[in-house]
Amino acid sequence: MIAIEKANRLKQLPPYLFAELDRKKAEVEARGIDVIDLGVGDPDQPTPQNIIDKLTEAAQNPGHHRYPSYSGLNDFREAVSRWYKKRAGVDLDPLKEVVSLIGSKEGIAHIPLAFINPGDVVLVPSPAYPVYKISTLFAGGTPYEMPLLKENDFLPDLDAIRGDMLAKAKMMFLNYPNNPTAGLATEDFFKRVVAFADKHNILICHDFAYSEMAFDGYNPPSFLETPGAMEVGMEFHSLSKTYNMTGWRIGFAAGNGEIISGLGQIKSNIDSGIFEAIQVAGIEAMREDAAWLDKMQSLYAERRDVLMVGLQKMGIQARSPKATFYVWAEVPKGYDSSGFAGHLLENAGIVSTPGNGFGDPGEGYFRMALTVSKERIQEAVDRMAEVGF
Ligand SMILES: *Cc1c(COP(=O)(O)O)cnc(C)c1O
Repeated sequence: MIAIEKANRLKQLPPYLFAELDRKKAEVEARGIDVIDLGVGDPDQPTPQNIIDKLTEAAQNPGHHRYPSYSGLNDFREAVSRWYKKRAGVDLDPLKEVVSLIGSKEGIAHIPLAFINPGDVVLVPSPAYPVYKISTLFAGGTPYEMPLLKENDFLPDLDAIRGDMLAKAKMMFLNYPNNPTAGLATEDFFKRVVAFADKHNILICHDFAYSEMAFDGYNPPSFLETPGAMEVGMEFHSLSKTYNMTGWRIGFAAGNGEIISGLGQIKSNIDSGIFEAIQVAGIEAMREDAAWLDKMQSLYAERRDVLMVGLQKMGIQARSPKATFYVWAEVPKGYDSSGFAGHLLENAGIVSTPGNGFGDPGEGYFRMALTVSKERIQEAVDRMAEVGF
C-alpha cells in the first residue's frame, strides 16, 4: 500500500458546511418523514419539449458524433450573439467574444487559471456561490471577501476594500441577480464597477445565471450593456436555470475578446467542448419563446408569494425577491443559521440552507429555494407555524 496524500490544493479547502446537514437529512428521511427540500437551486420543471426534440434529432446525425470544436459550434456562438443583441443591445463578435462552456460552473472554475498567479488577489462576494473562492484558491490566488450586507442592498462596498489587497487585486467576481441574497444590481452600480475596474486595473467576471428568473416586470441588466464594460470584463451565462436544463451542462462566456481567449486557451488544454447535439438543442432554447418564459416566471412568482405571506405571518424578516428563485430570510431570535436550519429539518422535515454555508456574512440568514410546487411550499409554511421557533 502506497501512501496516498492529497495535494495541498485540496487540504486548504474550507470544511464542507453542508455535510452535517446532508447527514441529518438522510437520518430524518430514514425515520419515514416526508422531507420538503427547499435546499438546492435546481428547477423541478422539465426541459421544454421542443428542446428535447432537437437533441433527439441532432443525436441521430453522425456529423455530431465526433469531437466538437473547443470554443463551440459557430451556429451556437452566433445564437449567443443574437441573444445578447436582442436581450441587452450588446454587439458581440461570435468568433472572438463568445466561448461555449460545459455549464457556467466550468468557466467560473477555470477562469482564474488563465489570469491569476500566486499572490494575486481576487475580490469575491460573500455570501456567494462557493466556486468563485475555490477556483481562486485552486489557481494559487488569494480570495478577498467583499461582504454583501442588507444595509447596502447586498451590493459590495467598493470603497471598503482594504488598500493593500486592492493593490494586488487582479480580478473581481460579481453575481446579479444574486444567489443567495436575491440582491439586484442597478445600472448605476455597474457603472461604478466599470470605473473602479478601469482605475485599479481589475478584470470583472459577472455571473448572470439568473438573468431571466425575474418577476413583476423586472428586467435584470446585463453587465455587458454598461458603457465601457467590454473593455474591462466578461459575463458568465447558462441555459441551466432559464430553460430547466441543469442536467444538460451547457453555458457560455461572453465579453472582452482577450479575456474570452484566455479562458478558451485553458479550456482547450483541459476539455474538448460540448457534444454538438446539445449545442444544437441550446440554439433551439435561445430562440426564446416569450410565452413559455412568462409561464415559468409566473410559476415562481406564485410560489414566492405563498412563501412570503407565510413567513410574514410568522414574523420572519425577508425581502420579497424580484429575481432568482431564492428567498433570503433572517433567522428568528434565539437561533444562529445552522441552529435554525437544524431545527427546521429535525422538527418540521424541511431542508433549507443555512446562510453561513455561503460565507461568514451569511450568518443570521437561511435560504429557501422555490423549486417545489406551491402546495408543497404551503405545506412547509404550515409545518413551520406548527412547530414554532
Ligand atoms: C446555478 C448557478 C451556477 C451554475 O450553473 P451551471 O451553468 O449549471 O453550471 C452559476 N452561478 C450561480 C450563481 C448559480 O446559482
